[in-house]
Amino acid sequence: MRAVQVAKPGADFELVDRPVPQPGHWQVLVRTAACGVCHSDVMTKDGMAGAYPRTPGHEVAGTVEAVGDGVAQWQVGQRVGIGWFGGACFTCTPCREGDFISCRAARVTGLSADGGYAEYVLAPADALAAIPDELSDVEAAPLMCAGVTCFNGLRGSGARAGDLVAVVGLGGLGHLGVQFANKMGFEVVAIARGEEKGEFARQLGAHHYLDSTVVDVAAELARLGGARAVLSTVTSSAATTATVGGLRPRGRLVVIGVPTEPLQVSAADLILASRLVAGHASGTGMDSEDTLRFAALTGVRPIVETLPMAEANRGYARMMAGQARFRIVLTTR
Ligand SMILES: [Zn+2]
Ligand SMILES: [Zn+2]
Repeated sequence: MRAVQVAKPGADFELVDRPVPQPGHWQVLVRTAACGVCHSDVMTKDGMAGAYPRTPGHEVAGTVEAVGDGVAQWQVGQRVGIGWFGGACFTCTPCREGDFISCRAARVTGLSADGGYAEYVLAPADALAAIPDELSDVEAAPLMCAGVTCFNGLRGSGARAGDLVAVVGLGGLGHLGVQFANKMGFEVVAIARGEEKGEFARQLGAHHYLDSTVVDVAAELARLGGARAVLSTVTSSAATTATVGGLRPRGRLVVIGVPTEPLQVSAADLILASRLVAGHASGTGMDSEDTLRFAALTGVRPIVETLPMAEANRGYARMMAGQARFRIVLTTR
């Protein structure tokens, strides 16, 4: 099979020929149709994978090609996705508590095991999500990381139908976050830089748009009644924490973008209104399946650019430069 690998930390992606792996006990072999390029692929590229060479890619959509022994729930020919969650150990304390995304020995697709920048990829049976017929492989792929992270972050935020919810950023994550927030029944505030993005935000389902270069975001959120939740998708620490004062009492800032700088939050802002700042990890195979079904049901779709797998370097460079509109998806054929 053709596969893209990182030969050693910091190396460019290279296309290689490899034998097709065979599924062992409780494993599923998936024939990849599409794989999204995610910012977290930087971890594989820059040296955080356990071993090299390593094939990145954790936004996989494809078809079950073969199943190992002990796999009863997946059938050959079934369309499935694989995300960041690449399987749990079932024996560590979080697993025994049923919190599989927090598994201490979690297998991470494309990082601790080879991922979807390849024509075939192996995954344990618990890592898969069924893809509904309404979604194409190219549409499903970005929902396996960007999508489930936004969807799960919002549904776990404590906000309920009708509540004011803000989404910071309108990029690969944010353009999905705004759509999900609208379809979940929230009053949606999109926050980004530049007046020109307002029209796009409204097309995605935002009821309000705040240009953070000209308004005091916290004051504007407070004027709208205060946000029950803010989903921050950006890599700016300052833009993330600028929303805290705009949370209503007991409101929650959910951080899913990864700023390089630490978040600086005023303790008074937290204490005086009992506000919360929370991180949120992506989601399990079941969470991804919920995301896909919700997207199929409501019309939420990623906006993507597709490239052949052989152009992984170009796709990764566009993503890293912030030029992707809005997710890059590699296709195998
Ligand atoms: Zn990702
Ligand atoms: Zn575990």
